[in-house]
Amino acid sequence: MTIPIAVPSFSNKLAPFPSVFSSFVMESVRPERSSVKKDSGERPKPASRNRARKSSHGTSRRSILKKSFAQEQVDFTGPVRDDPVVGIIGGGMSGLICAQELEKRGVRSTVFDTGMHGLGGRMATRMIEPERLVFDHAAQFFTVSDDRFAAMVKGWLDEGLVQDWSGAIGELRAGGHFLPIPSTPHRYIGVGGMRLLADSLLSKNSLVDVVRPCWVSKLEPFNGMWHLSENGKHCGQFDAIVIAHNGKCANRLLASSGLPLIARQMKRLQLSSIWALLAAFEDPLPFLERDGFLPFEGAFVKGVDSISWMGNNSKKLLNSQGNFPHCWTFISTSEFGKRNKVPQENIPNATAEKVKAAMLEGVEIALGIPNGSLPKPFFSRVQLWGAALPINSPRIPCIFDPRGRAGICGDWLLGSNLESAALSGMSLANHIADYFQNGGSRPDEFAVGLHKEFQPLEGQDIGQFPGLAAENQASEAENYQLTT
Ligand SMILES: Cc1cc2nc3c(=O)[nH]c(=O)nc-3n(C[C@H](O)[C@H](O)[C@H](O)COP(=O)(O)OP(=O)(O)OC[C@H]3O[C@@H](n4cnc5c(N)ncnc54)[C@H](O)[C@@H]3O)c2cc1C
Repeated sequence: MTIPIAVPSFSNKLAPFPSVFSSFVMESVRPERSSVKKDSGERPKPASRNRARKSSHGTSRRSILKKSFAQEQVDFTGPVRDDPVVGIIGGGMSGLICAQELEKRGVRSTVFDTGMHGLGGRMATRMIEPERLVFDHAAQFFTVSDDRFAAMVKGWLDEGLVQDWSGAIGELRAGGHFLPIPSTPHRYIGVGGMRLLADSLLSKNSLVDVVRPCWVSKLEPFNGMWHLSENGKHCGQFDAIVIAHNGKCANRLLASSGLPLIARQMKRLQLSSIWALLAAFEDPLPFLERDGFLPFEGAFVKGVDSISWMGNNSKKLLNSQGNFPHCWTFISTSEFGKRNKVPQENIPNATAEKVKAAMLEGVEIALGIPNGSLPKPFFSRVQLWGAALPINSPRIPCIFDPRGRAGICGDWLLGSNLESAALSGMSLANHIADYFQNGGSRPDEFAVGLHKEFQPLEGQDIGQFPGLAAENQASEAENYQLTT
């Protein structure tokens, strides 16, 4: 890749701290609406712990909205350095693939992720030792429809990171009526769980740093670079940034970042809320022999208010042959999630108990067994995915603001599944690499998706599975061309 050598066009003499990048052009600030504020050239002061907390947790939605509409647009006008680094905020599928694809184009990056136990975001697996309990508690499996994603998945199959899930899955109608789904298209799962796939994705990459757990709480443009920090602690400076997460967290981060167009698109996104119940049983669940159906390993549940999916992790991940324990993940409908929404970081015990009882009752209705007859799980835990799945989408692979040198990737740009997330990360990486290759000149040619309207998304409560059963929506995105 040829990246032009940066020629400093403005020297910032006011810089109060020695910086290897101090000879780079200071970003100018383009007026957005009526406010114009020039960067003083002073390094942003690290916020005190309390102040940072207040701005990240104590800000009302109204004030976030007000802030992000009024904020000024950052305009990086200097040339791109000859060895640029990208800061990727979010280590789910989209952020990880973005980093991987940037490396293929010779661009360095750092991925920041909040994960305490590992990377992956909504590719989440919980393992509980020594009982040998294992649960995929968000993404359950995925299908492949795009050739570029197919090539990626083939690589994962060769490396033993994913495998075909050949167990019976289907639709379970209230009362225990099970209709199997054909075994094609292939269904893939992470070997040992989705999180293990996420944790392995970057293990061979030398141009990618991973910082975890790290919750990036502030983005500040200074001296031609983005400065990232976590509650006042500096996390590094970057030539461009990628927002690879969504929801409240992203809205807060973008509220005063200097990226009003990016912030506005992010705010248009609507997300569902979904409860997951992880439950381990000593015995197999009592399946009724109806119309000769075999015990299934996964089912999209229909006609039950509290359950939309049930999956047997022990069968799926450990291929356990009827032996103890039996680890099931039950996922609620989005309607149930909406009705029972509470702050996900602080779930009241009473709500947790109520949700658990309603979901177990839903399992009985789905299986068509008498109320109260389901064996008691010896382990159970509920989790709320407050920002679970997108319900609308701009249906473009990525968003990029070349003036602010910032982009967005994530499942919601194309759909609501792992394939969409991977394709989005891939597209943004290539777009940024092309932009760098052009030295950051002709910014307007590189603007993508900043004004794209959103459309509603359809699919299962747990996302879209291209090619599976009735899911065959042709996506406008397939025909969408990036600017380069
Ligand atoms: C219950 C449920 C079931 C699902 N089932 C399926 C399925 O079976 N098949 C399928 O294909 N898809 C499924 N999905 C959807 C799939 O999980 C997502 O489409 C995909 O994982 C999204 O990846 P992403 O990279 O866009 O976002 P995420 O996975 O959400 O990644 C974002 C990451 O950014 C991190 N982050 C957030 N803020 C910050 C910050 N300030 N600093 C640092 N890091 C930050 C988060 O912690 C997270 O790790 C399911 C989703 C849910 C919720």
